[in-house]
Amino acid sequence: AGFSPEKAEWQLSFEKAFAQMVSKESISRFSKEMSVRSGVVGTPGNAANVKFAVEELKKAGLEPEVKTYDVYMSVPKKIAVSQTYPEKRELQVMENLPKGTPYANEVIPGYNAYSAAGTVEAEIVYANYGRPEDFAELEKRGISVKDKIVITRYGANFRGVKPEQAEKRGAIGMLIYSDPADDGYTKGIVYPEGPWRPDDAIQRGSILYIFRYPGDPLTPGEASVPATKRLDPSEAVSLPQIPTTPLSYGEARPLLEAMQGDDAPASWQGGLPFTYKIGPGATKVRIALDIDYKNQPVNDVIVRIPGAKHPEQTVVIGAHRDTWAYGSGDNTSGWTTTLEIARVLGEMVQKGWQPDRTIVLAGWDGEEYGLLGSVEWAEEHRKELTENAVAYINMDGTGGQFFGASAVPSVKQLIYDVTKEVIEPRSGTSIYDDWYVREGRKDPNIGKLGSGSDYTPFIQHLGVPSLDMGFGVAGGLYHSAYDNLDLMERFIDPGYEHQAAGSQLVGITALRLANADALPFQYSAYAADVVSMLDEVAAKGTLGIDLSSVIAQARTWQASAKELEELAGKMIADGVTDAERSQLEKINAAMMQQERDLIVSEGLPSRPWYKHQIWAPGLTTGYAAQPLPAIAEAFQANDAKALQQAVERLNTVLKKATETSNAAK
Ligand code: GLU
Ligand code: ZN
Ligand code: ZN
Repeated sequence: AGFSPEKAEWQLSFEKAFAQMVSKESISRFSKEMSVRSGVVGTPGNAANVKFAVEELKKAGLEPEVKTYDVYMSVPKKIAVSQTYPEKRELQVMENLPKGTPYANEVIPGYNAYSAAGTVEAEIVYANYGRPEDFAELEKRGISVKDKIVITRYGANFRGVKPEQAEKRGAIGMLIYSDPADDGYTKGIVYPEGPWRPDDAIQRGSILYIFRYPGDPLTPGEASVPATKRLDPSEAVSLPQIPTTPLSYGEARPLLEAMQGDDAPASWQGGLPFTYKIGPGATKVRIALDIDYKNQPVNDVIVRIPGAKHPEQTVVIGAHRDTWAYGSGDNTSGWTTTLEIARVLGEMVQKGWQPDRTIVLAGWDGEEYGLLGSVEWAEEHRKELTENAVAYINMDGTGGQFFGASAVPSVKQLIYDVTKEVIEPRSGTSIYDDWYVREGRKDPNIGKLGSGSDYTPFIQHLGVPSLDMGFGVAGGLYHSAYDNLDLMERFIDPGYEHQAAGSQLVGITALRLANADALPFQYSAYAADVVSMLDEVAAKGTLGIDLSSVIAQARTWQASAKELEELAGKMIADGVTDAERSQLEKINAAMMQQERDLIVSEGLPSRPWYKHQIWAPGLTTGYAAQPLPAIAEAFQANDAKALQQAVERLNTVLKKATETSNAAK
């Protein structure tokens, strides 16, 4: 879809040629080279990987640029956790890496980026996943977390949600451990025999409150370039306030085992072989975090392949290039996939080819700390991206075995179309068929964009249509020092076949968007999804607010969008005349604009950085999307006035999108 017959033929053969040039050997070389050292933002291993990528891109005939931002971030000096009662014991905060592991001295200990520094000591209380409902359960039982250290397990939400919930209730510290029920031996064979988490593997990870705003905590909404005024850290609402640090299940086990108090509810029981108790009493812990806070450079690697017909319009592909340790899966796999697309397109350019629209490829730095590199870049390029970005395609953890995607509804059909064109290496069928068989339904599920990766600034801050695609990993070494080359090559993506399929898939998606006569966005499908989300809201009750007119507006948009899609389809059906070409430009501009129409400059009432009226991460989930966020939050607060305002605002943006669609006909 999106091409006149003549051009479609050319495009298909070009896509085939592109796919054939994608090389597993090349991806393997990238992966090996970039898995040698730890790639945490601000470290020498990270810098070495910038140098490598820049050289490779130059070899491919391209002109990469390194964009640097100075961002306020935490740097761990010494992380210490000890049990102080009933026994005295120092806990291990590092994996037992085999002797002789290269660059083991560069691997940082288990730590939560942006944790508050300091020392706290208290009895511990177990709070399951640290969700609001878990704390409510404690309250129901009359158990206070005030002045206590809360121990929670990883899972069910973004880890930063846990300390925020605890801090609000007066806790003074937090431990977050990986429970084997969620991530470990109950799931499968542990590393090194299998791909699952052994008892010494620690999940590192940021707890920055990215669900309030991601990026530099001191420059919300603006790029952290030298001229930008910084907030005082005390003014930043994304910075956690209590010392928080992660543990392996091997180290958490004796703490949990020594706890007393009520038995934890059945659904709180984990995979360790004893009955979990809630506490408090009986176990005391000291957390001593020596963490520096300072500005450090974040280095994005950016390369452009200029378009011949619409050089100002851009299709952006991005993957984060920073890692927590060796990071072969997260996210060297996404970055190798991106580099391979760049390498092949570079060769095409040297043979004289150019896309119609510009393709930008980005390796983001500091994603793990809180989407630092992508947010600062998007904020710096706000004007160009708002005017001219066609789409953003994200890859985070591409080298697994099982395809999955999240995206705005307008590109669902595009994803189905492209997944039918690429072979899934494990099954030998198309990616689409493999996906369809696994899910047992035609048009398998495409998720909603929440947060936790670099699409967030594009879709939720700027309103650029966004997609997140890749092959998920079956295994549990996420953010540990064992996410390494050996794991990748034996278990995650042996032979680099899925990373190669990822390069083909994302490359072809970008080429369709870059070359389309008519941009293949379906706002009729988008509007239909908005209608069903509103129907769901209405079914739950409306606090006396009438939703019928906003639902009607969504339906009007749906009908108008459908007409526009049909009009564009007719224009390209039998070749494009000059008169049609200029009308198509108008339609294409409307295709970009409709997503932009869904954002409002003042943002959501709860968090102004998040401007999209349809999608935001949930305030108490962090990763999972909260559709229609302002409406949902007004409901949660039981606030009819806020609901009225949210509904009016939604009505306004839907009307704008409808008008944009109408004006292009
Ligand atoms: N950045 C997110 C996090 O630390 C998730 C995605 C990733 O691991 O890169 O939770
Ligand atoms: Zn990642
Ligand atoms: Zn990660």
